[in-house]
Amino acid sequence: MLKFSGKSVYKGIVLGPAAVLKNNDFQVKRERSEDPEAEIARVETAVEKAQEQLQKLYDKAVIEVGEASAAIFEVHQMMLEDDDYRDAISSMIRTEQINAEYAVAVTGDNFSEMFANMDDDYMKARAADIKDISNRLVRNLSGQEDVDFSSMEPSVIIADDLSPSETVQMDKSKILAFVTVHGSTNSHTAILARMMNIPALIGVPLDLDEVHTGQTVIVDGFKAEAVFDPTEELCRETESRMKEEQEKAELLQTLKGKENVTLSGKKIHIYANIGSVGDVGYVLENDAGGIGLFRSEFLYLGRNDLPTEEEQFQAYRQVVQTMAGKKVIIRTLDIGADKQADYLNLGNEDNPALGYRAIRICLKQPDIFKTQLRALLRAAAYGNLSIMYPMIISTEEVQQIYRIVDEVECELNDAGIPYKVPEQGIMIETPASVMISDELAEMVDFFCIGTNDLTQYTLAIDRQNEKLDDFYNPHHKAILRMIKMVVDNAHKHGKWAGICGELGADLELTQEFVRMGLDELSVAPSMVLKVRKNIREME
Ligand code: PEP
Ligand code: MG
Repeated sequence: MLKFSGKSVYKGIVLGPAAVLKNNDFQVKRERSEDPEAEIARVETAVEKAQEQLQKLYDKAVIEVGEASAAIFEVHQMMLEDDDYRDAISSMIRTEQINAEYAVAVTGDNFSEMFANMDDDYMKARAADIKDISNRLVRNLSGQEDVDFSSMEPSVIIADDLSPSETVQMDKSKILAFVTVHGSTNSHTAILARMMNIPALIGVPLDLDEVHTGQTVIVDGFKAEAVFDPTEELCRETESRMKEEQEKAELLQTLKGKENVTLSGKKIHIYANIGSVGDVGYVLENDAGGIGLFRSEFLYLGRNDLPTEEEQFQAYRQVVQTMAGKKVIIRTLDIGADKQADYLNLGNEDNPALGYRAIRICLKQPDIFKTQLRALLRAAAYGNLSIMYPMIISTEEVQQIYRIVDEVECELNDAGIPYKVPEQGIMIETPASVMISDELAEMVDFFCIGTNDLTQYTLAIDRQNEKLDDFYNPHHKAILRMIKMVVDNAHKHGKWAGICGELGADLELTQEFVRMGLDELSVAPSMVLKVRKNIREME
């Protein structure tokens, strides 16, 4: 039995097999080969395996995200068969008498650089694809195969750290829990775990070589412990605790269909946060009144190029149609900081959280912004959609946004494409926006307070820095006073205000939020019924 302690980011308990994800960025060594033909044959086998993996990914993606988004895996399959690429690998193995891994890695780098230097934008974007397929081949050659989510039984994901772009690619139905060596409690992986209602531990000091895929592990989010190879007695105890938790969850189910109303009759909206179209199922399952935050940037992650207007339109339309008239607030692209997409070439920054991110990218690169706005305005014609802009710091930004929205509206009008300009609100997640919330309230339809970033910027604490978790205090008086100020300023101008940061689901504060006059709390779907219970028990 091997026991480790970490920090728990979602309370729950499970027992299941481990799936260990190792860092794929390992160094490929150049080695001399006495038998180049055998190395070339190894490449052939690795290619065959890659073709099978890509086919499975394609089949799964077609069902989950549609044919247009899945097409990337077909492109990868075609690239693997490209004569120039394959000949370059074989000739390097023969002429330099080297190992297959090294030849594939170097050829991948060379081809990728060549594509990156082309003028054509489409060809440029293929640089990342070449890197992807070469990495896949190297992984296959060195026995570090992908964890195959399509055939994997539901497992506990064990990793060094997980970036948002990695987590977004995972098949959530196959994940029982997360255990990571690094990561902070406010990272997007932690947010994802809360959304999925699964236990998650971060900062667990384990050596990934000590554990292996298939090993039985218990993840106990209450005790913040992960136990590998547990004794039979502990397994029995865990199973009975899992049953108890299940019973508690079933009890909460009786609150479905009930109002979010206090004993004295005050009502509040409880909406849910999502990151993808597939998450709408969790929203309906937990009876949320709407979607208070759709983090649209997840559509941009885990891929090699920007999503097209059509892809985005389909995704947004599907969400509003599935929500059948309930409010759906879609936040425009909030990329940058921890949410990186290589193809955007955002570059390295000393202070990414204070850097080129979110609305700043949209205002500096209006083409990207306009594509998203066109998709949003078109989808708005199909249901109850609202748009929300992140990281606002000034009234000038809002004016600039409205000018771009006007342009998009004119273009759609001229082209005779159906659309609607919906409600538009902003996130209040910078101290600057709090301090001018009286002026901003005159310009927008609603406020949604992003307490994750507001805490980071107010307390000057990087939310990604795990060393600072003990200092990150969203209950700080400064934050609570800011929330009250924002609500009061919104109400003075007849607008509504909600919270969509993680603090919205903090059960210790629910009653205080109601007293402050918040109109809405948008929380992880798994928290909707718990917050409802709290409200219904309040005087
Ligand atoms: C926030 O900052 O509170 C928020 C909801 O946005 P994100 O966590 O995606 O930055
Ligand atoms: Mg934020």
